[in-house]
Amino acid sequence: MTQQQALPATVDHLIVGAGFAGLGMAIRLAEAGEDDFLVIEKDGGVGGTWRANTYPGAACDVPSQLYSFSFAPNPDWSKSFSPQPEIEAYLRKVAEKSGTLDRFSFDTELTHARWDEADQRWHVTTTRGEVTSKTLISGSGGLSAPKLPDIEGIDTFQGEVFHSARWRHDVDLTGKRVAVIGTGASSIQIVPEIAPDVAHLDVYQRTAPYVMPRNDRRYTRVERLLFKAVPAVRRAYRTGIYLGRELYVPGFVWNPKLMTPAKKIALAHMTKAIDDPELRAKVTPSYEIGCKRILISNTYYPALAADNVDLVTDPIVKVTGDAVVTADGTERPIDVLVVATGFQTTEQPIAEHIHGRGGRALAQVWAERGMASYKGTTTHGFPNLFQLVGANTGLGHSSMVFIIESQIAYVLDALATMKTQQYAAVEPRQQAQDEWNATLQSRMRRTVWSAGGCSSWYLDAHGKNTTLWPRSTISFRRLLARFDAEHYDLQPARRNEGANA
Ligand code: NAP
Repeated sequence: MTQQQALPATVDHLIVGAGFAGLGMAIRLAEAGEDDFLVIEKDGGVGGTWRANTYPGAACDVPSQLYSFSFAPNPDWSKSFSPQPEIEAYLRKVAEKSGTLDRFSFDTELTHARWDEADQRWHVTTTRGEVTSKTLISGSGGLSAPKLPDIEGIDTFQGEVFHSARWRHDVDLTGKRVAVIGTGASSIQIVPEIAPDVAHLDVYQRTAPYVMPRNDRRYTRVERLLFKAVPAVRRAYRTGIYLGRELYVPGFVWNPKLMTPAKKIALAHMTKAIDDPELRAKVTPSYEIGCKRILISNTYYPALAADNVDLVTDPIVKVTGDAVVTADGTERPIDVLVVATGFQTTEQPIAEHIHGRGGRALAQVWAERGMASYKGTTTHGFPNLFQLVGANTGLGHSSMVFIIESQIAYVLDALATMKTQQYAAVEPRQQAQDEWNATLQSRMRRTVWSAGGCSSWYLDAHGKNTTLWPRSTISFRRLLARFDAEHYDLQPARRNEGANA
C-alpha cells in the first residue's frame, strides 16, 4: 500500500515486521486463503535485518542454499555464502512475486498494542494510525534493536560515531583513524573490509571469538544451471548442508568435548594467519568453542596482523572528544568510532509495547521471569499473540529460516483450528508454558552455552539462556508440527461479538 493510503481500521491478522519472518508469514497466510491481513514495517521496505545491516562485508555465515525459504528456492545465489545485497534482493523478489505487497505498510511502527477482553481483539496503535485485529503476529526479530555500549563520554565524541547496523555510508573512512568496538560476527566482517583504506584501525576486543575458515566460493555456471534445471539436485544439496549443520548439535547441547576437532581447526586457522606470539595470545579464546557464536572468516586474522591495525584488549574506560581511553591510561586518538556491539536480544523493545490480559506489558512479565513463552511462539496472558523468532528459538549452528517456517506452520494450524472450532481466542495455559520452559531450561544446563565458561548475548541479565533452542531443529519442527489445542485455553466468541468468530 502507498504512504497516502490510510491503514484499514480492522484486519483479521496484523503482522509486525517484513523480514524473513513477517514476509514468510504473509505469503503463507495468503496461500492458506487468510487474505485479510496487514504487515506493518518500521523500515522503508522488506528485508528486516538484511535490509538494515549494510556495513562493508555484510554477508551470511549460513550457506545460501539453506538460508532461503523452502517454498521459494533461489537457484541464482552467486556464492556459497551470500552477501547481504543478494539476500535483500532475494527477499524483495520473493515479496514482489507473492502478490502480497499491497498489504504491506512501510515506515509504520507499532507503538502500542492492547488485548481487549470484551471484543477479543488486539487494539494496535502505529505511527500511521490505529488498527484492530483478531491476531497479532510479531516477526520483529531478535536482531533488530542495536545495543549501544554504555561507555562514559561516548556522547561527547566530536567525530562520527555509528552502530554497525546503522552504517553511515556518507562517512568516508579513507585515510581516517578509526576504532571498532567489538569482535563479534559483524565486526569480523567489517574489520578486513575497512582496514586497507583507513590510516589506522584500533579494534577493541573484550572477549576473543573462535574463528573458523570460511569455505566460501563462487558457484560455477554449471552448478547454477543444474540448480535451475534440476530442482532435485538443488534439494539434495540443501538437505546435505542441513544435515551437515545438525552434526554440531550434540557438541553444543550434550557434550562440548565433541567440538574438539572444531576447536583444533579454529586454533590452527589462527596460528597460520598470525605469527606474532603476543597477538596470538590476545586472540586465543579462554572458553569452550561454541559457548559464543562460532565465527567464520579467512580475512579477519590477516587483517589484525596488518601494520596499520592494533588489537586492543585493555578495557575501555571512557571516550573523550577525540580519543578512546583504556584502563592502562593509554589515549588513542580517532576520527570515527564504529560500535559493533550487537543487539538487544534478551530484552526486545517490542515487548514494552504489547499489553495482554489485565493490561500487563510483555516486558513486565518477562522482567520477572526472563523471556519465556510456550513453544517460543505463544505466551500465557497474551491471547492470540504469536511470536516468530520468540523466546528460545534461536540457533547457533543452522538457518533461522527453518525455525521460522516451523513456527509459521504452527500458527497456520492454530488459525485453522480457530476457524473450524469457532474459537475467538487461544492462549497457552500457564502450566503448559511452565512445563515447556522447565524441560527446556533443564536441558540448557549441560549445553556449552551455559557450561562453556563465557558470557554471551544468548544469556539474559540473570545468566539464563532465553534465546537459543537446545535441541535439534528436527525436534523443533516435530514439536510444532500440530497446533496442540489441549494445552490452550480456548475462548468461544462472546455472544454479542459473534461476527469476530
Ligand atoms: P555480538 O555478536 O553481540 O558482538 C558484539 C561484540 O561487541 C562482542 O565482541 C562484545 O564483546 C562487544 N561488546 C559489546 N558491548 C561492549 C562494550 N560495552 N565494550 C566493549 N565491547 C563490547 O554482535 P554482532 O557482531 O552484531 O552479531 C550479533 C549476531 O548477529 C550474531 O551472533 C549473529 O547471530 C548475527 N550476525 C550474523 C551474521 C551472519 O553472517 N549471518 C553477521 C553479523 C551478525 P563480548 O563478546 O565480550 O560480549
